[in-house]
Amino acid sequence: PSGEPSGPLRRVQGNNYDADNPHSDRLNATIMSLVRNSEVDDMVRSMQDLERTWNHKFNYPWTFFNDEPFSEEFKRKTRTATKAHVSYELIPPEHWAIPSWINMDLYNASVSRLTSQGVQYMSQTSYHQMCRWNSGFFSQHPALASYQYYWRVEPKVHFFCDIDYDIFAYMRDHNKTYGFNINIYDSPESVATLWPHTLGFLQQNPGFEHRNSARKWLEDGSKRPENKRKANGYSTCHFWSNFEIGDLGFWRSETYRRFFEHLDKAGGFFYERWGDAPVHSVALGLFEDKSKIHWFRDIGYQHIPFFNCPNNPKCEGCVTGRFTDGEKWLTREDCRPLWFKHVGMD
Ligand code: GDP
Ligand code: MN
Repeated sequence: PSGEPSGPLRRVQGNNYDADNPHSDRLNATIMSLVRNSEVDDMVRSMQDLERTWNHKFNYPWTFFNDEPFSEEFKRKTRTATKAHVSYELIPPEHWAIPSWINMDLYNASVSRLTSQGVQYMSQTSYHQMCRWNSGFFSQHPALASYQYYWRVEPKVHFFCDIDYDIFAYMRDHNKTYGFNINIYDSPESVATLWPHTLGFLQQNPGFEHRNSARKWLEDGSKRPENKRKANGYSTCHFWSNFEIGDLGFWRSETYRRFFEHLDKAGGFFYERWGDAPVHSVALGLFEDKSKIHWFRDIGYQHIPFFNCPNNPKCEGCVTGRFTDGEKWLTREDCRPLWFKHVGMD
């Protein structure tokens, strides 16, 4: 079209996004996944869905992270699933190991106590390590240093709708920091002291809270089903972080680094089972302008047992409007209405 730049910056229509095109319109962005070798086949299924519905048009590179070296099988199978560049990254041991200040007797006692209270995954040490890494360390990995945006993907998820635009360009052009897909409640026992520790941090750092924050969303328990309790002031409503599209700048910011350090020292990644989803959500809800958080309603998505399935002819394989194909009580886990109440829809 007229008005396109000419000369060396001229964009090659239809060819912009070739994986090897150094002049492509791609932003500094990557699709990323923390994943185990044993999950390779489920990872490939996730890749096939995202490639089919979106990435074969844009060829954003994939970056895989693991606390152990990736196997040749993992590399071979995942490379076959995309035309885009792929890289395989090891997590530095100091980003994964249980930190020195964790009291192992207290950790073991906490595991017994919260396991008996029904906190899922409490007794699986690697789960605690995974949540801590996703909370505080993925953004610090040197392999992401050159990237501004990331799209987090997990093995065994599904994407249902054709997406025709560059998601990362959307983030940039609309000045978004974070994109989510599904919001759910957490079990209050898993994050019992997250909010009190957060309030302690705010007290030590007055002025960190954004003037257009979504704090009221974090504190609102009004629409909770009656069988759900708040966690010492936190509604537990969170962005479900198996799907994240974000600006790494937020996680690298001084504010977030200090917040994470405060939480890490408090020990709740081990003495409780703080997930990266509530930790990310509390930070976004306090320190970011709520208008910079975007619901990607058009991205049809499933991570068992929940769906986001839009009413759109470009979607195939999910039931419009369905939130879960699991037991009926699971429909009450959806807390998106709480987000819409406080933030509205953009
Ligand atoms: P859930 O979604 O909360 O049930 O947790 P998942 O088991 O799906 O784990 C979340 C993500 O972290 C997935 O992408 C897993 O592949 C990954 N993950 C979990 N634990 C480990 C681990 O010990 N090592 C590695 N490399 N990846 C892990
Ligand atoms: Mn998962």
